Amino acid sequence: MTLDELTAAFQKLYGGQPRIYRAPGRVNLIGEHTDYNKGFVMPAAINFSTWVAVTKRDDSVVKIHSDIFEEDAEIDLANSAAHGRKHWSDYPLGVAIKLKEAGHNIYGANLFVHGEVPLGSGLSSSAAIEVSTGLALLDISGVKIDRLGLAKICQMAENEFVGARTGLMDQFIACFGKADHAVMLDCRSLESRALPVPDDVKLVVCNTMVKHELASSEYNARREQCEEGVRILSQHLPNVTSLRDVTPDDVEKFRAELGEVIFKRCLHVTTENDRVLKAADALRDRDLKTFGKLMYESHNSLRDDYEVSCQELDVMVDLAKPIKGVFGVRMTGGGFGGCTINLVSVEAVGEFTESIRNSYVQATGKQSGVYICSAADGAGRIQ
Ligand code: ADP
Ligand code: MG
Repeated sequence: MTLDELTAAFQKLYGGQPRIYRAPGRVNLIGEHTDYNKGFVMPAAINFSTWVAVTKRDDSVVKIHSDIFEEDAEIDLANSAAHGRKHWSDYPLGVAIKLKEAGHNIYGANLFVHGEVPLGSGLSSSAAIEVSTGLALLDISGVKIDRLGLAKICQMAENEFVGARTGLMDQFIACFGKADHAVMLDCRSLESRALPVPDDVKLVVCNTMVKHELASSEYNARREQCEEGVRILSQHLPNVTSLRDVTPDDVEKFRAELGEVIFKRCLHVTTENDRVLKAADALRDRDLKTFGKLMYESHNSLRDDYEVSCQELDVMVDLAKPIKGVFGVRMTGGGFGGCTINLVSVEAVGEFTESIRNSYVQATGKQSGVYICSAADGAGRIQ
């Protein structure tokens, strides 16, 4: 959809001359299940965005239409609920409510959302709709807040209004993405560092098209296992308040006391943090071979130690590995389905796409989704 088409679609529904904002989806290159352990992650914003056209209203009603769902929703900010109703509009309307609760004078508005980020595929369409809506509402209301503040309010909307227990990474990268760069984020200090992604590679995301039921219960179980690891380790290492403070050597040292399962969970998190730091050095040095090797190690650790992969993800990694031009592959996101991230040389992308599509359907009987991404800028006003 072009900007003119978006404007026309808006006008057909509401009339008026809208402003337009966008916020990108993202892919995490390395650093999985480290965020809630106060460790390191390395997402990049991608060239798939959610677009929001908006005009101000004279009352306190926020109306929203999504072209994906072909449906309208609305709330009155003067009289709004504390929790969502398990509807797509919980994400954007939750942001409006949380902005208001934070004391900002948000005007009523008409919003039209055009979604380009695939939903529920691990590319964070949720943060993209939250941040684009948040930016749109703040701007037409004439309210200025810093981007970190906006990211935190969007996270709060997702945690408290939608009711999904997620970290800050998705909203952070939607706000702070940088074209042709990945961003290493320290989930404890929230300091970040932009790292160049060489222009001769693409970030190719392959969707297994499966999402196993286990995902959310296992996610909660992993968080608890990490907390248990911290509890045991902190009895010996008094300065430890999260797995961020622990090294793989510490984990080895207390293996017997941790027990085999907690040991493996802690080993993944601590080695993964090390890998992110090494991967940052590799990108700085434009050393894609080393970066790719770290991606493979990350996948193996997620599969064997953290045990959050699944057959389809392992197949997708194994099929991609031998294809020409592939530097590295790993599962990305929470696991039990979802996507892999592949670092593929630009000239090999065409053949890669064809090859992985064919071999995945042959191996599993399932179609895949292949998204060819490059690192993009964070959210902003377009028109
Ligand atoms: P992900 O963030 O990985 O895409 P989530 O489950 O966190 O998956 O968020 C997806 C949900 O966000 C959708 O089911 C929908 O409720 C909401 N959403 C995202 N983008 C849009 C959109 N363009 N229009 C309406 N709802 C959207
Ligand atoms: Mg999400």
